[in-house]
Amino acid sequence: MDRIHPCRICGNYTESGVCGVCGDTERDQATVCVVESAFEVESIERTGQFRGLYHVLGGRLSPLDGVGPENLRIDALLDRVRDGGGRIREAILATNPSVEGEATAVYLDSILRSQGVRVTRLARGIPVGSDLEYVDGSTLAQALAGRREM
Ligand SMILES: [Zn+2]
Repeated sequence: MDRIHPCRICGNYTESGVCGVCGDTERDQATVCVVESAFEVESIERTGQFRGLYHVLGGRLSPLDGVGPENLRIDALLDRVRDGGGRIREAILATNPSVEGEATAVYLDSILRSQGVRVTRLARGIPVGSDLEYVDGSTLAQALAGRREM
């Protein structure tokens, strides 16, 4: 465990300077998935459905706990967007669907959009295997709002 530290590019866990995802040139360099913690990188990697890059914020905005933009790796994200010379075209905001996670996404949306990056958000919906009758109203409302073509 002593050798594990944050990747100097994305903040993911690694034993070397750059993590396996950032070091993989086969991955889609135009798409960055923004998550709160490195645990979420593992969760998304496990799906095998994402071939882009990551950016770990190291938390979420929480004014009541004294966590502002300067306490997260937001500057590092902006540096990646600017230094990439337009290579990063889409940012997928995968912060948690909590009040703080939403506030963080709204904040990131405005600053990333001003850099000309397409900003998307993970779809929210009904958990697989659940019964509509027992899904709470806000989840159902979000699933309706986020409906897609069949
Ligand atoms: Zn990395």
